Amino acid sequence: MSTGDLLKPTDAGLYCEVGDFFVDPRRPVPRAVVTHAHADHACWGCGRYLCSAEGQGVLQIRMGREAVVDSLPYGEAVEINGVRVSLHPAGHILGSAQVRLEHRGEVWVASGDYKVEPDATCTPFEPVACHVFVTESTFGLPIYRWPSQQSVFDEINAWWRANREAGKASLLLGYALGKSQRLLSGLDPSIGPIYTHGAVEKLNRAYREAGVALPPTAYAGTAAKGKSWGGAMIVAPPSAQGTPWARKFGPASTGIASGWMTIRGTRRRKALDRGFVLSDHVDWPSLLGSIAATGASRVLVTHGYTAVVVRYLREQGLDAEILATRYEGEGDAQDRAEVDAMETEAEAVEEAS
Ligand SMILES: [Zn+2]
Repeated sequence: MSTGDLLKPTDAGLYCEVGDFFVDPRRPVPRAVVTHAHADHACWGCGRYLCSAEGQGVLQIRMGREAVVDSLPYGEAVEINGVRVSLHPAGHILGSAQVRLEHRGEVWVASGDYKVEPDATCTPFEPVACHVFVTESTFGLPIYRWPSQQSVFDEINAWWRANREAGKASLLLGYALGKSQRLLSGLDPSIGPIYTHGAVEKLNRAYREAGVALPPTAYAGTAAKGKSWGGAMIVAPPSAQGTPWARKFGPASTGIASGWMTIRGTRRRKALDRGFVLSDHVDWPSLLGSIAATGASRVLVTHGYTAVVVRYLREQGLDAEILATRYEGEGDAQDRAEVDAMETEAEAVEEAS
């Protein structure tokens, strides 16, 4: 990194020195510009937050009612200490934004997490021209190529239908913020009733308030005792798997939706019945396509397979380097940790049996 850089990695996260604010800080700071409300990007306790207008509701839920959250419609700009700041759709979850910074003719874009295929739960990703592009690389390996989401939704609905015929409930696991709502948007409510875990239902409310159409859902906790769950779909976060809460549904088939299912889907039959490949991040072809679409000559790679992506971009003649931001926490990282934990558990079961 050089001294004139608009964003620099610090212990507290990516810092814009001229503007005196942080992008996705991981510690409380006076002023935070936040790409999206996942916990590895939005940290609790900052003095002031700036996010997209579309994301204000979910960020407020995540940061608490007392948090000061300012918002900006996509594409509108504000000046912060002479730096022109605007937010542009990232297509990752409701309200997710790329942060565009402009100072003395130089333009930087920090993309946060992003995905190119449009879905029904958030504004689609838009490439933003810039000189320097900061990109994630969560799935930055050539093996990651997503099937179309419609084919995945068709698979999920067929699985649900088959479970219904067998008199079983369907327990579908996905991260509570973003993934769950995207899954709900793809379910066919004519198959049966849809129930949710409390963590999911709370965020469904925020999505509906933001104008996202979701099928009717009911909080599973309010169902009468002795209820039969055969034929029902229950959407819950991965952490619910194997808990007494999940066991109350009786005979059930359990599935999980995650980009990690590309390589792990078939290995854990004991713990999970089905793995669906559905990710809210770019796959390898759309990562490279998005980088090219920015026209950036310099690319800073973070959060994932940084070394692989940097080497590839350098071979293409770009000025690429690893940006060490060490995103931590729950959010997508949690999603991955949970999948890892389930896999370890499943392997232990296999060894014991
Ligand atoms: Zn995220």
